[in-house]
Amino acid sequence: MKIITDPHVLQKQCLAWKREGLTIALAPTMGYFHAGHISLMDKARSLADKVVVSLFVNPAQFGPGEDLASYPFDPDGDAVTAKAHGADILFTPSPGDMYPQGPAVWVEVPGLSSQLCGASRPTHFRGVSTVVAKLFMLSRADYAVFGQKDWQQLAVLRRMVKDLFIPVELVAMPIVREADGLALSSRNAYLTAEERAQAPHLAKGLALAQRLLNNGESSAQRLKEAVLQYWRTYLPLGREDYLSFVHPDDLAPVESLDCPALAVAAVHVGRARLIDNLLLIPKG
Ligand code: AMP
Repeated sequence: MKIITDPHVLQKQCLAWKREGLTIALAPTMGYFHAGHISLMDKARSLADKVVVSLFVNPAQFGPGEDLASYPFDPDGDAVTAKAHGADILFTPSPGDMYPQGPAVWVEVPGLSSQLCGASRPTHFRGVSTVVAKLFMLSRADYAVFGQKDWQQLAVLRRMVKDLFIPVELVAMPIVREADGLALSSRNAYLTAEERAQAPHLAKGLALAQRLLNNGESSAQRLKEAVLQYWRTYLPLGREDYLSFVHPDDLAPVESLDCPALAVAAVHVGRARLIDNLLLIPKG
C-alpha cells in the first residue's frame, strides 16, 4: 500500500491504472477507522482491481464551533487497518493540498442539502459535495462506497453524480452497529461512560417506530411523539436536533407511512452529535 498526500501524484497513478484498463474503487473517509469504515474498504476490494481509501478531515464540511479541531485521529493505526483490508493507496492530503487557493470552487446541491442535518449544519453538505467531487476527479473511480449511516449524504451525492454526469457508480453499505445497537461512529469516542450507556436508545427509539407501525400506527406525527417520549425516558442525556419520517430518495417529509419511509434522527449526547436512521416498512 502506498501512502500518498499529493493530489497530483494520486491522479497520475489513477490515470495510469485506467490506461491499463484497471477498475478503481474509492472509499472516502475522515479516518479513526472502525468496523463501519472497514465494511466500505472490504466492499471496495471486492468491486475493483484497485482500491483507494481517502482519509481527509475536510474543514469545509465543519461549521464554526463544531469539532474540527478535536476530531479523533490515529493515522498510524488507520494505515495498518487500510493495508490489512486491501487498500492499494491511502490518500491523506492536507487541507492546503485539497484547497490550494482556499475554498475557491464550490459544488452545491441545494434543496437536499438544506433540510435534516443541513438545517443545523447549513454549510455541511456543500463541503461534502465539493470534496467528494474533487476525490472523484482525482481518483477517476469506477465505484465509490459510502455508508447508509449518512443517508442524506448519499442522497446529496447521488444527485450530484447524476446532474454532473460523473461516471462513477455509488455503492451504499448498511449501517454497522455495536452489539447493543449503537451505530459505529468515530464521534462515539466523545461519549462518557454514562452517555455511552444511554446512546443505544437512539436506535432503539427508531426501532420502536417500526414496532408501532407493525401494530397499525401509521401517522408520522404520532410515531414521532412516541419516539420522543421514549427518548425522554431512556435517553435523558440526549438533546434532539431532529427526528423526521421522510421519503427514502428525495427526503420529502411523509405524513402517513403507507409506503416505506426513512426514520432519520440526530441527537446531541454530551459533546457528540449522533445520527442514525432506519428504513420503516409497513406490514403486508
Ligand atoms: P466518516 O469517516 O465518519 O466521514 O465516514 C466515512 C464513511 O464511512 C461514510 O460513507 C460513512 O457513511 C461511513 N460510515 C461511518 N459510520 C458507519 C457505520 N456505522 N456503518 C457503515 N458505514 C459507516
